[in-house]
Amino acid sequence: MGVDLPTPRPLGTLAELAPKPIRLVLNWGRRYSLWVFNFGLACCAIEFIAASMAKHDFIRLGVIPFAPGPRQADLMVVSGTVTDKMAPAVKRLYEQMPEPKYVISFGACSNCGGPYWDSYCVTKGVDQIIPVDVYVPGCPPRPEALLQGILKLQEKIAGENLADRYRPGADQQRRLPTGALQRPLVTPEGGDT
Ligand code: SF4
Repeated sequence: MGVDLPTPRPLGTLAELAPKPIRLVLNWGRRYSLWVFNFGLACCAIEFIAASMAKHDFIRLGVIPFAPGPRQADLMVVSGTVTDKMAPAVKRLYEQMPEPKYVISFGACSNCGGPYWDSYCVTKGVDQIIPVDVYVPGCPPRPEALLQGILKLQEKIAGENLADRYRPGADQQRRLPTGALQRPLVTPEGGDT
C-alpha cells in the first residue's frame, strides 16, 4: 500500500515578484549553493564521482555533493541508463525536490538512450519524464564536461526570473505528463507511481 507523501511547498508570490536587485542577490545565492543529488544509474555515475573528487573538485564551483536525498537537493544529476522500470522512481524523487529545482542530464544514455536507444526497456531520454535544464553529451562524458554543464546551469540561474519560470504556461511545458513516455510506465507489483 502506498504512503501519502507531503507535497513540496510552491514558490511564494513575493519570491515571484521580487524586484530586479533582489532577484540578482537571490539568483547569486542559488547559483553558488547547489546541493546536488546524484541519480546514478550506470557507468556515467562513476564520472560524476570523479568530478566530485579532489582533482576536479566541483565544490569550488558551489556544488555541494552532500544532499542526503532529493528533499534537501536543488539539483538532480541523472547519470546513466534510465529504464522504463526505473523511470517512475526517477519521476517520484524529482517530485520530492523543493522548488526551484534543476536537472542536469549527464551522458548519452540519460540524454536519449545512448547505445541502448533501441532496447525494448530503455527510456529514450530522461526528458520524457522530467524537465531537463542542461544536457551533457558523451559516452561517458569526462568530468570536465560535467564542470562545463554546471557552469552553463549557473549562467542560466544567473539570468533567471522565477516569475517567468513559474508562469502558468511555462509550468505546463516544464512538467511533462507521464503520458509523454513512448510506453506506459512500469508499476512495480503492489507499488504505485
Ligand atoms: S552514456 Fe555510455 S558511459 Fe554513460 S551510462 Fe550510457 S553506456 Fe555507460
